[in-house]
Amino acid sequence: MQSFSKQFNCKLPTQTQNTKKMSTTAIDINPAYEPEGITGQGFFATSLDKAVGLARANSLWPLPFATSCCGIEFMATMAAHYDLARFGSERLSFSPRQADLLMVMGTISKKMGPILRQVYEQMAEPKWVLCMGACASSGGIFDTYSVLQGIDKIIPVDVYIPGCPPRPEQVLDGILQIQELAKNESRRRRESPEYKALLAEYGIE
Ligand code: SF4
Repeated sequence: MQSFSKQFNCKLPTQTQNTKKMSTTAIDINPAYEPEGITGQGFFATSLDKAVGLARANSLWPLPFATSCCGIEFMATMAAHYDLARFGSERLSFSPRQADLLMVMGTISKKMGPILRQVYEQMAEPKWVLCMGACASSGGIFDTYSVLQGIDKIIPVDVYIPGCPPRPEQVLDGILQIQELAKNESRRRRESPEYKALLAEYGIE
């Protein structure tokens, strides 16, 4: 792989030039330069956060928590025509401990709520939640005493997919949104006070 300047056909200023430029401008811009020796073919400098994010985003292992018709749409997404494997998510996990993406698809009854929450709690960090369809997001057409009116009442949700049922293209789009979150997430986020406060809102430690 070529260096940044060669790859994008642009000239980066040398550090001396940059120092001069900095003194004449009011904006405090401090760009990072290729470290000495880390240039030329076969090298590309990046941050550890970005490398880890890239690996996480392209190897999501979904746990399909499918309780009704939305699950059928998910099966279509997994099959040859839409082929979720193209996004590195072909390995479904039916064990929470080997999954990092909880996909909730279908009507969740109040009786089912504690089970869903237990599955979420058993998943290791980092983990993301994708909520597919009107039923999982808000109870959908089932505005009744027995149906949970949205899974975000019991667990935090990262991405919602609207529709009844959503098309497989929407499911793919939801996965891409999760990938963006995973790519750009700092490795320290899960230890941050904000994240702990979010879990505390749900009574999860
Ligand atoms: S959102 Fe529609 S398709 Fe999905 S589970 Fe509910 S009723 Fe079925």
